[in-house]
Amino acid sequence: MSRKGKRLYEGKAKILYEGPEAGTLVVHFKDDATAFNGEKFDVIEGKGVLNNRISEYFFTRLGEMGIPTSFLKRLNMREQLHRKVEIIPLEVIVRNVAAGSICKRLGLKEGEPLPRAIIEYCYKNDELGDPLVAEEHVTAFGWATPQELDDIVQYTVRVNDIMSGIFAGIGIRLVDFKIEFGREYAGDMVRTVLADEISPDSCRLWDFKTNEKLDKDRFRRDLGGLVDAYTEVARRLGLLNDNGGGPRPRPKLVKG
Ligand code: UDP
Repeated sequence: MSRKGKRLYEGKAKILYEGPEAGTLVVHFKDDATAFNGEKFDVIEGKGVLNNRISEYFFTRLGEMGIPTSFLKRLNMREQLHRKVEIIPLEVIVRNVAAGSICKRLGLKEGEPLPRAIIEYCYKNDELGDPLVAEEHVTAFGWATPQELDDIVQYTVRVNDIMSGIFAGIGIRLVDFKIEFGREYAGDMVRTVLADEISPDSCRLWDFKTNEKLDKDRFRRDLGGLVDAYTEVARRLGLLNDNGGGPRPRPKLVKG
C-alpha cells in the first residue's frame, strides 16, 4: 500500500508521484522497456517488479557503505519511497570493460578490458539524444558546480568498487553502468546524493563463465529472455522468495 499524491512525472520506465510527506516521492517501476532514445518499445511483464527489488538492494547496500542516497524504503512490489531531490542533469557512466557506445566511438572490441575504470558524462536531454560531454561543459554551463562534480566522482568510484565486488561474488562481471545524482535540500544546506535507480536496465552484466548477457542488452539486441535474466540476477543476489519482512538477504557466493 502506498499513499501517493499527484503524478509529477512519467519517464520511460518509471512514474514519480508526490509522496505521503512533504519532501518525499513515490517511485513506481513500470514494465515498459525502451531503447535507442525511445525508438524501440515493448512491455515486458515482470520487469518493473524485479527492478524495484534489485534497485532497493543496491541503494540499501550502498547506503550502508556510506554513500548518501535518496532512497528511503520499498513500499510494495512496484513502488519505493525516496527523498525528493533536484536531479543533476547528467548520466554518469562508468565503464570497466568496453561495450556499447564506446566501442563504436573509439573502435574498441566488445569485451576488451579497459586499462582502468573510465567515468563519462552525458547531458540528460532527450531532444539531443543525451550527448556525451566533458567536465568542462558540466561546470561551464552550470549543470553541476565543481564541488558537486567532485562529490560525484568520489561517490561514483566507490559505487563502482562496491558494486563490482558484489557482482563478482555472485559470478557476474559489472561491464558498465549508469547512475544519476541529485541535490537534497535541507534548510539552507544542500548535499549531493545518489538518486534514480540501479538495475539491469542501467547496467551491463555478463556471467563470468559464459559471458551470457543478464541485462537490458537482451531487449536492445532482441535476444529474448529478459525477465529470466533479471530473475537470475535477483536470485543470485538472494532476493527471491523474500517479502522484505525476513532477515536481510545475502548474496549467494558463486565458487569459481
Ligand atoms: N545507460 C542507461 N541509460 C541511458 C544510456 C546508457 O542506463 O540512457 C547505461 C547502459 O545500460 C549501459 C551504460 O549506461 O550499462 C553505458 O551505455 P552506453 O553509453 O554504451 O550506451 P548504449 O550502448 O546503452 O546506448
